[in-house]
Amino acid sequence: MSDGGPAVRRLADWNRERLLSLADEFGSPLYVTDLQRVRENCARLLSAFPDAHVSYAVKAHAGRAVLETVRETDIDAECASAGEVERALAAGFPGDRIRYTAVNPPAADLDHVVERWEENPELTITVGATDTIDRLRERGFDGRLCLRANPGIGAGHHEKVRTGAHAKFGIPIDRVSDLAAGVRDEFDLVGVHAHAGSGISGDDLSAHRELVRRMGDLARSVGDLEFVAVGGGFGVPYREDEPALDLATVADATREALGGTDAQLAIEPGRYVVADAGVLLSRVNTVKAVPETTVVGIDAGMTSLLRPAMYDAYHAISNLSRPDTETVPTIVAGPVCETSDVFADGRPLSRPERGDLLALGNAGAYGYEMASTYNSRPRPAEVVLDGDEFRLARRRETLDDVTSLERTASEHPHTDQAPHNL
Ligand SMILES: *Cc1c(COP(=O)(O)O)cnc(C)c1O
Repeated sequence: MSDGGPAVRRLADWNRERLLSLADEFGSPLYVTDLQRVRENCARLLSAFPDAHVSYAVKAHAGRAVLETVRETDIDAECASAGEVERALAAGFPGDRIRYTAVNPPAADLDHVVERWEENPELTITVGATDTIDRLRERGFDGRLCLRANPGIGAGHHEKVRTGAHAKFGIPIDRVSDLAAGVRDEFDLVGVHAHAGSGISGDDLSAHRELVRRMGDLARSVGDLEFVAVGGGFGVPYREDEPALDLATVADATREALGGTDAQLAIEPGRYVVADAGVLLSRVNTVKAVPETTVVGIDAGMTSLLRPAMYDAYHAISNLSRPDTETVPTIVAGPVCETSDVFADGRPLSRPERGDLLALGNAGAYGYEMASTYNSRPRPAEVVLDGDEFRLARRRETLDDVTSLERTASEHPHTDQAPHNL
């Protein structure tokens, strides 16, 4: 296992020449993911939480290369859908290293996961509604079950990522003990779970502490559990001058708040594992001087990286083609006809010119995963780095890919849909 490396990798730490040559070779927009950095992030988590069970929230980046890299560490897979369970299995995670957390699960997801559970009886399913327990029972599931509590506490960098207190997620915490007693005979009750949201930073550790305290109380009241999971949400510094999260402090606060329990602490970081392991490279299409600023139009948009449009998220941006020139204030915008298709407003950037290559930092988490084909725009390619080696991990999508699902009326006059899959 590699050492943990620095607490954070900044955009400025990436090798500029290497990124320039990757964009020349593979085109843009291009995601670049460094597997060595993924390993370092895993190593730091494992060493800060030596006695905890650590799972990676696959939804942050479900690419095969990342999943295989995580699998080679002692970190397990936390899956949010049947598709993610499938990808974790395909990447070599055995069933006993996979947890599936069902949030309002479609029937097809439950069918599929229960089928997988029959082949992998050590797989764990986390449920956030008694209704989901009924639906699992109907499918013959009687395996490892974890109850997701709604702890009444949310945390995170944006309203849209605070899940902890939202009625959508989990069973109200004061009902979990009774429910646990009721399902014990029928299922192998292994854990309780909660997730406050994303973006725990040094500032809102108090919310994290309170969530963990409530979960410790819950674990003691339920009793006889294998684990108590307190979610993910470990923040990363998106701004270049923001301090890195001090994992040791978070770990201390977590242990202290949990209190004594036989159940093992479990954490599920997603973002922390991959965010600073990825950058998005994008070329300048258009430079437009307007009286108040310079609008820099680039070939990546909200379809390549949604976070700024969806969460007002900040991503560091640098002009790799002109490292040393003076900066001008800019608006960096994508090619989609939406006002929210803007990556930055008022951002100083080294005098951008058409054809320059820009890099957007911390794009490894919830980057490619949230990409779409809106505006008939094919999704970017992804290259993975590993030491001196690199390879294309996902080819660039083509317009043919985008239209490949379409059927014309003459080809398929009747509704002859195939039986539905995932
Ligand atoms: C999304 C999610 C996580 C990971 O959140 P991060 O902010 O990426 O660490 C963990 N657990 C559950 C249940 C999630 O839905």
